[in-house]
Amino acid sequence: MSFDVNTISPPRGGFVGGCYEPMTGAPFELRSPSAPHIVFEERSASQEDIDRCVSLASGAVKSSGWAACGPRDRARILHRWADLVDARLEEIAILEALVGSRPYHEATERDVRVVAMALRQFAAYAETHESAVTATPHHQLSYTRDMPYGVVAAIAPWNFPLILSAWKFAPALAAGNAVVLKPSELTPFSILRVAELGIEAGLPKGLFNILPGAGGTGAALVRHPGIDTVSFTGSTVTGAKVMAEAAAHGLKPVSLELGGKGAQLVFADARDPDHVADLIVRGITYNSGQVCFAGSRLVVQAAIRDRLLSLVEQRMNGLVEGPTWQKVSLPPIINATQLARIEAIVQTATDQGAELLCGGEPIADAQGRSFFQPTILQSSDTDNAAYREEIFGPVLLLDTFESFEEGIAKANHPEFGLAASVYTSNLDTALAAADQLDSGTVWINHWGRAADMTSPFGGVRRSGFGKDMGRAGYQKYLKTKSVWVERAVP
Ligand code: NDP
Repeated sequence: MSFDVNTISPPRGGFVGGCYEPMTGAPFELRSPSAPHIVFEERSASQEDIDRCVSLASGAVKSSGWAACGPRDRARILHRWADLVDARLEEIAILEALVGSRPYHEATERDVRVVAMALRQFAAYAETHESAVTATPHHQLSYTRDMPYGVVAAIAPWNFPLILSAWKFAPALAAGNAVVLKPSELTPFSILRVAELGIEAGLPKGLFNILPGAGGTGAALVRHPGIDTVSFTGSTVTGAKVMAEAAAHGLKPVSLELGGKGAQLVFADARDPDHVADLIVRGITYNSGQVCFAGSRLVVQAAIRDRLLSLVEQRMNGLVEGPTWQKVSLPPIINATQLARIEAIVQTATDQGAELLCGGEPIADAQGRSFFQPTILQSSDTDNAAYREEIFGPVLLLDTFESFEEGIAKANHPEFGLAASVYTSNLDTALAAADQLDSGTVWINHWGRAADMTSPFGGVRRSGFGKDMGRAGYQKYLKTKSVWVERAVP
């Protein structure tokens, strides 16, 4: 399974009102991390592009009857769309692998399929959604109706461009909204093809729009008076700016899926240490660690520290870096800025006293691609940079504990709370840890999200708030109205 990177010509520009459109804002360059000789000259959406797009989206919700029609009618279109995405799986996966860090084989096995799954799952939620009749006296009738907001701004990051976009646009559309999606400037192509398939499936034009941009487009979109709610995934720093902009420009509701510093809490009685080591390594090296819910801290009970560390190191040594069109376990780091950031944090961490147990260096190949060695640092210092920063690279921070209480205290991070894992063969220990880990998701004897859409995902504290997926990830695109009827009881 592979493709020839030199022969791919991706869709370009934006997708506005059901058509591809060239953007008219500032130019920017987009470089493939797997093929740095390939450069795409793109343009950001200008303020005029944004105004026109939001106005088309707002008009389309009303003129198409999308919000008012039966959820079953919306679901029919979303199901057709999902079938088309499945049918064009390979082509979409190539576009995903062309400029991002997602390997083609993983995009075909997972990312594109997740888009189709999201469309089907949220179609099902739309069809089965129920509102309440409340417990009033008989001379009154009170019920709630969940209404779409109108136009949703969705801002998605570069690390899983398709999946993280689908977590937003599928529920928002299923709930009866229009969507203006701002993909990362680093990965705009795959989602354009998905949008085109929506039109082929019968989605009314103007309901799903895409505005590319590199610097300023996201903020302009959040501020726009025609945007009714904002769903953002990205860094904690930018998430805070999104929240401030949304508060200052219309007090719009926002949901933020932000950074993490996930713990992998391993008790000495964990069953099958080989399997645990597989999961630990996957947790920090999947997508080269460019994962918001990466298991970036290994908190291990002292009695098995040495054995587990040796198993983890063995596996890390077996990982293979390479471009996204090969079946590699370590895809490229997305760009030079991100690589420099990883290097700088590792350097600061060791300067501050963390012990470097393996890795620690960037890897550059002859074609100009950049990777980072799987790295393990050891430190118990909660002021160390490797503890405080979301590194977004294959860098694992190791610490040990003795008692259950100490393990929980170390696994809980003072700022982040997106996802954590606990490994033990004792069910009581596992459930007590799940209760006490202050994290939006806890995996027991596992790391990583299943492709399944039924379980909500989202963090606490600086990892954000509001859920993607699950019923909560559908409900957040609806506002609840209470209706009171005063009845004349005969
Ligand atoms: P950012 O979190 O900085 O997000 C960039 C996106 O946010 C762009 O689309 C940008 O649009 C938009 N944006 C920037 N400012 C605003 C604003 N004020 N209002 C609305 N939108 C805005 O991600 P980066 O790609 O720059 O990555 C930086 C770091 O973030 C990484 O090193 C990594 O640590 C972390 N990260 C975390 C992710 C996660 O899932 N938790 C995902 C990706 C990155 P525009 O270009 O138009 O300004």
